[in-house]
Order: sequence, then structure tokens, then C-alpha cells
Amino acid sequence: MREDLLNELDAEYAAQRNRNEQEEADRRERIRREFPEISRMMAERENLIFGTIHRMLDGNADTDRLEERMKAANDEIAAALKANGLPEDYLEPVCRCAICRDTGYTGELIKEPCECLLKAYQEKSASGSASGKTRMKRLKNSTPESFRRHRCSRGSHSAS
Ligand SMILES: [Zn+2]
Repeated sequence: MREDLLNELDAEYAAQRNRNEQEEADRRERIRREFPEISRMMAERENLIFGTIHRMLDGNADTDRLEERMKAANDEIAAALKANGLPEDYLEPVCRCAICRDTGYTGELIKEPCECLLKAYQEKSASGSASGKTRMKRLKNSTPESFRRHRCSRGSHSAS
């Protein structure tokens, strides 16, 4: 694969991740402004996590129930979003590609190019200039994104 095209793609993916973050921030801000009830639920969910961490440090956490309670909190928020005419995943991380979370790469330790990156690469090389083959080199840079959940909210959805 050609290094110059990959560099271009990396830059485009980085720009996309910035847009995702901006979109996430906009959504949180909108919820904060327009839906105080949902904001309250989110704050409670956060307290659930931090409260449990504190109790763990004190040595008496009921971590078994945390997952269950987190799920209940998530369900409650999703239901409230829906009830307000918003998509249930409105507050999930925003990304175009749920597989690589817009990093372009998959895999925790050994990085593999994501399908979406290969597709973008093909489109780019088809429309771009001539051939040339260089190997894909930058597969090892691990990103914090790779540790996030494999789930995301589509960037562009209407409140259906
Ligand atoms: Zn992808």
C-alpha cells in the first residue's frame, strides 16, 4: 500500500474523530440544556461508577451488582431518550464505523486495517495517481480508542 495515500487517510480519519468528538459534546450540551431529567440520570449513573470505585478502595464493594445496576441505568437513559423523541443511542460514542471506531484499525495488540480503511484506500487509489507499492508500516500505534467499547452511535440520524 502506498504511504502517501495512507498518510492522507490517517489525516482524514483523525479529522473524522475530531468531528465525532464535537458531535458528542454538542449532544451532551443539548441534553444538559433541554433535558434536565436525562442529565440527572446520567449524573446518577456516574455516581454509580465512582461510588463503587470508592467502596472498592474501602474494601467493601458490591461489584457483583454494579453491572446489573449499570445496565438498569443505561436502560433508563435509553428509554428516556426515546420518550423524548431522540434515538436511544444518542449519547453513545459517535462514529461512522462501529468496527474500528473511526481509527481505521482493528485489533488490540496487532493492528489490522479495518474494512472501511481498505475500502477508502481502494477508492483513493482508483481516483488518484499511478501505482507504487509500499508496505503498511504504521500498524503498531495503539490508540486509546481501541480500548473503548465496540459500539457507537451514527453521526447523522434524525429523531425518528
Ligand atoms: Zn472501520
